[in-house]
Amino acid sequence: MDWPSIQQNDPEVGEIYQIVHAGRPCPEPDSITNRSAEFKSLSAQLDRLKLTPDGILCRTFVNNVTWATYDQIIVPHSLRREITDELHRGMNGGHLGYRRAKLSLQKRFFWPGWSTDVQLAKRRCQQCARYQRPRPYQQGSLQPIVTGALVPRRSHRNTRLPTRYRKEPPRNAGFEPAVVPHTG
Ligand SMILES: [Zn+2]
Repeated sequence: MDWPSIQQNDPEVGEIYQIVHAGRPCPEPDSITNRSAEFKSLSAQLDRLKLTPDGILCRTFVNNVTWATYDQIIVPHSLRREITDELHRGMNGGHLGYRRAKLSLQKRFFWPGWSTDVQLAKRRCQQCARYQRPRPYQQGSLQPIVTGALVPRRSHRNTRLPTRYRKEPPRNAGFEPAVVPHTG
C-alpha cells in the first residue's frame, strides 16, 4: 500500500502531512477556528507526529500499561471503513469484540474518532447481528447510544429481546431470564 500518496491525497490528513514534512510549527489556534474537529485534533498532536524513513505519516503511541511504543499510521478517510471492517472480522474470521479490535487497531493505526469507528464496524457486521444472542433488559439499556445514519436499523432490532419477553416477562421472581432458550 502506497501510504504516503494516499495520505497526501486526503484533504485534511494531506495538509497535516505537508506541515510535518516541512517541519512547520503547529498552526495558531486562532487561525484554525473554522477548520474541522479532525484537523484541529491532528494539529494539536503535531509533536507526536512524524514521517517514517519511508515517508509514512505516523503518530507515536505509548501503551500506558506495557510501555511498548508504536508508530501508528495516520489513516485517511477513504480507508477507515475498510480497515475497521477487516480488523473486526479478524485474521481467522474470529469477529473480534470491541476491546480486542481496539487493541489490535491501536498498535498500527490512528485517526481522530477511530474508537467510535471500531464500534460501528462491529455493529454493521451482518454476521454478528445474525448470530448475536439476545440480551436481558438491563444490559441492553447500558449499550452506548450511537447516533447517525451509519447504523443499520436491523442491527438495532437484533440486539433486543424477542417480542414475547419484552411484552410479558416470565412470572418467576421478577428477574429477566439470564439465558433465552433456543428456538431452533
Ligand atoms: Zn462480525
